Amino acid sequence: MVSATTRSRKPKPTTTTATTTTLDDDKKTGNKKDIKIKKHERERKHKHQEFEFFGPKGAVLITILLPFTCFFLVKACNEEHGCVSLWTIFEHEYEFPKKMFPLLSLRSFLVQVGWFVWCLILHLSMPGTRKEGVILKNGERLEYKLNAFRVLVVTSVVISTLTWLDLIQLRALHGMFLSMLSAGCAFAFALTTFLYVASFRKDRGNDDDASKKKKKTKKNDDDDDDEKEVGSSVLLANGGNTGNVIYDWFIGRELNPRFSRKSTFDIKVFCELTPGLIGWLILNFSFMHEQFYRLGYVTKPMILVNMFQTVYVVDALWNEAAILTTMDVTTDGFGFMLVFGDLVWVPFTYSLQCRYIAENDVEISTAMTVLILMIQCIGYYTFRASNGQKNLFRTNPKSQKVKHLKSIKTQRGTNLLISGWWGIARHINYFGDWLMAWAWCLPCGFKHVAPYFYVIYFGILLVHRDLRDCEQCELKYGEDWKKYCRIVKYRIIPYVY
Ligand code: NDP
Repeated sequence: MVSATTRSRKPKPTTTTATTTTLDDDKKTGNKKDIKIKKHERERKHKHQEFEFFGPKGAVLITILLPFTCFFLVKACNEEHGCVSLWTIFEHEYEFPKKMFPLLSLRSFLVQVGWFVWCLILHLSMPGTRKEGVILKNGERLEYKLNAFRVLVVTSVVISTLTWLDLIQLRALHGMFLSMLSAGCAFAFALTTFLYVASFRKDRGNDDDASKKKKKTKKNDDDDDDEKEVGSSVLLANGGNTGNVIYDWFIGRELNPRFSRKSTFDIKVFCELTPGLIGWLILNFSFMHEQFYRLGYVTKPMILVNMFQTVYVVDALWNEAAILTTMDVTTDGFGFMLVFGDLVWVPFTYSLQCRYIAENDVEISTAMTVLILMIQCIGYYTFRASNGQKNLFRTNPKSQKVKHLKSIKTQRGTNLLISGWWGIARHINYFGDWLMAWAWCLPCGFKHVAPYFYVIYFGILLVHRDLRDCEQCELKYGEDWKKYCRIVKYRIIPYVY
């Protein structure tokens, strides 16, 4: 465990007010506020810096476990050897289906790389909206080009047309699933290593700015870490800058990897939204195509899961700018954890329910369908409304929709909502997301436990993510966060947790 102590500062008392600052105000007072936020966070960072995920050993274990789980899910649930149910968990024959052999193929590797390059070309060549991210710890605010929704539209039109004309067989991805998964893993390992090595570069494009800033920093600042970061023009993530190669590779050294600080191409935001999420939908539709090929029609459970997950992805891409205020973008480095999560874990494990439905006879009653639809609608409404409310509050607090909400003013300078969705639970958005997870698994029926992997895993992820985020917020806000927790008592599920 790494810990360090520095000077402490007594936090100023907080007051409960309706919010009063706007984005313009933020810009005008930007410098003062940035310095205040920067100092405040640096003090807390040094006071309490710890390894997450049980340190380097945990990082190694998770690096092995993640790909292992992806492959295991194919072994534990496939049409040749059946699926794990609670009562066959120890007797189950855990084998890969021969239909999905080979495990490695050059064709799949080329498809994987070709898919990434296709997304990249569309992203770079098509127009997009320009948005600024949050103020970073070095006072910089990066600009992002956002056009993932357009990439989705173009890709959908191209794939549907080619499938309609019989020029490609979308369902072929079902047979290639294992080798595509192997190719995805290899790609994720390679990209992570490239990003880790690249994080040691000196960004030539900004050398002049950097040296100016460095001089200024030397005069005014006593923080060695920040000097190093400014000097190299590569902004490092707090958590992924420990000096331990394995841990930093896993968490990610660089916060927002870019070819140059002036470029709007941000590989982390690109991977978070484009190849992984759209790739997930393509796999889902390939399983639907496979079912249609086998049965001559598409079943109700298949339509439900495809529809729900398409809504989820379209929502994420439509509200693309919201990603700029999430923890993945503002706090975490871009290391194996996120690279693998975005490019492999999401498409290959989140599509399990559709694969299961394509390979198994599943039907559900009308009553069950209604129940599932209700769960999905409540979940989606909670998820969208709460995320939208916080995003609007962070970007345009004077908007009519949020200006009546109560918030506490914090010493850090930003306010915390204590009414509306964020007054019900500290992560009510996670609750909505988890409800949707149920709606995506229930169409698979109750014969096997394997298709419920998503809802179980996601529940664990959200609890852990809430703990991580609260820890980060306590570092950012100190006493103010404790006060917020006293006012908003529940973490995720109101009156339960
Ligand atoms: P959140 O959107 O929950 O954002 C957390 C941040 O919001 C905090 O760090 C803090 O940052 C700010 N915040 C916290 N409380 C308040 C408050 N009361 N008022 C104002 N701001 C507050 O983080 P995530 O990135 O974890 O989640 C975003 C969405 O993505 C969620 O809906 C989640 O379910 C979903 N998600 C889905 C995953 C999947 O695999 N399907 C994986 C991970 C997330 P600050 O104060 O610095 O602004």
